[in-house]
Amino acid sequence: MSPETLIRGTGVFPDVGVGRVVLLNNNHAIREMVPFYCALDQDIQKEVDRFLQAVEITKQEIEDLKKSMSQRLSASHLAIFDAHLLVLEDALLMNKTTEHIKKHRHNAEYAFNTIMNDLLKQFSDIDDTYLKEKSEDLHDISRRVIHNLMHTDKLKEIDTITVTEPTVLVAQVIHPSDLKLLSDPNIVGIATDLGGKTTHTAIIAKALELPAVVGLHDVTKRANDGEMMIVDGAEGQVLIRPTEKEINQYGKKHKMRVQRMGELELLSDLKPVTLDGVPVSFLANIELQEEVEKARFFNAEGIGLYRSEFIFLTVAPSLPTEAQHFTLYKSLVEKVKGEIVIRTLDLGGEKFFHEVLETFSQKNPVLGLRAVRFCMKRQDIFRTQLRAILRASALSDRIRLMFPLISGVDELKSVLDFLETVKSELDSEKISYNHELKTGIMIEVPSAAAIPDLLARYVDFFSIGTNDLIQYFLAIDRTNDEVNYLYQPLHPGLIRLLRNIFQSAEEHDVRVSVCGEMAGNPMFTILLLGLGLREFSMTPSSIPVIKKIVTSVNTDVCKRIASAALKMDSSEEIEAYIAKENRKVVPKFEHILKSLL
Ligand code: PEP
Ligand code: MG
Repeated sequence: MSPETLIRGTGVFPDVGVGRVVLLNNNHAIREMVPFYCALDQDIQKEVDRFLQAVEITKQEIEDLKKSMSQRLSASHLAIFDAHLLVLEDALLMNKTTEHIKKHRHNAEYAFNTIMNDLLKQFSDIDDTYLKEKSEDLHDISRRVIHNLMHTDKLKEIDTITVTEPTVLVAQVIHPSDLKLLSDPNIVGIATDLGGKTTHTAIIAKALELPAVVGLHDVTKRANDGEMMIVDGAEGQVLIRPTEKEINQYGKKHKMRVQRMGELELLSDLKPVTLDGVPVSFLANIELQEEVEKARFFNAEGIGLYRSEFIFLTVAPSLPTEAQHFTLYKSLVEKVKGEIVIRTLDLGGEKFFHEVLETFSQKNPVLGLRAVRFCMKRQDIFRTQLRAILRASALSDRIRLMFPLISGVDELKSVLDFLETVKSELDSEKISYNHELKTGIMIEVPSAAAIPDLLARYVDFFSIGTNDLIQYFLAIDRTNDEVNYLYQPLHPGLIRLLRNIFQSAEEHDVRVSVCGEMAGNPMFTILLLGLGLREFSMTPSSIPVIKKIVTSVNTDVCKRIASAALKMDSSEEIEAYIAKENRKVVPKFEHILKSLL
């Protein structure tokens, strides 16, 4: 394989897709599809450079256009192009955009679009036909620059696409509005320039179980329409123009996975108890309503984590109304059999996908105004969501309310006080809700993980968010490749912390689950069981694998393994030990792993 055919990104759904490339232009109005993301500190200059480069390319295009039209247009008409060039040479406009990028850390497309929108608004407010015409020029220029930033000139518009053979969609980003096309069975994979695990594309791909790799930076530039592409969501890479041999090899991988998943799906009906009869719960993490079907299909007992921030994502740039929230929660009540844990808004941190955060430009968003911290600052947004959850709780006692990123008792109390205020507002409006509504918190900040006994006095349940807990506990930015090697779920400190939380929750009669990625990773199942976990919440498609392991082991054996691991002093040692025990105590462990590729 020649090196230029392989591009690495972030794998989202661990399957393989082989098909012909269709390059997408997700929208006819390019300025409406401008992606929004925040650049990491070290990437800000890259965004500025990208912008300046796009301006240069645009200038060149206009020069070329002017030249090619010179025979057909009069000098006065050709002057239009000069006017366009002047706009692109306007230092104020250019500086404003680069300043916006630096100040807000926004991507170049978004920054430029924002500045142009402001300018266009000023033009539209003036009642002057000449200036109105000029605003059309500005529209045109900004469209060109954004086009060049998104290098979409060779892309198709999504509305015009019909796919008749296995197809890999290649785009800058996939929008929720593209869901219809993505549901076509001929779509076998997605590859995008932008995105991480929590972006639109990733979430949608996961919901639809489509092999996907995001964050490939320039796949839309390097792939051409009609070429073959392999999307390897397990390894987080794509192969452009693969050889016949590679196509066959990956095709087999996919078939094997389908076959193994089929075998495991049959196990979804297994009684969820360990070999020695200890009951274990399997709940689903979902982000989109579409995933409810999957959760049902894999026999999840309920929804252990509903990441409600995705409501905000789907209606962005507007904010969801109380009615929109309520309609969604009501439909969950109608569709889900078991309990439904609705986590309140967790925007911020790396989930920087709503313009509402724009007003809070922060140097270090992961440690900044995120989740309940943000909600307590924007109580209008929080109130709207809490009212809707409370109202939905009147429809079913299966609704639960959960707060993310709680860091201590004081913060929890102020959040609970706010909940009481909202309840009394409903009381005074004679709106009913479940007065016994069960309330819980995510344990994902180390300071909360250290005091489960104190927090237990105020809530009915805990859900451990290992994704964030590991990041904060080990002081590792998981988006930073330089320190990735230190992101160790099996750090001795972390497994002790988990053991303490499980023990404390049991002593204080508080339910506890794990809803971070650790719960759905088969490498960790026996350890988590041994440490005391009995409620696992995960991506629906992970359920059969974890269930298979749980039902084939004995809790005493797992406890023995956990207590041996708790005495070890390095992640490496624990990892090797758990890997060995997995093979020893879980029948056909290798076979089970292969179903995940
Ligand atoms: C976590 O932090 O583990 C978690 C489940 O929440 P999220 O991934 O949505 O931050
Ligand atoms: Mg979290």
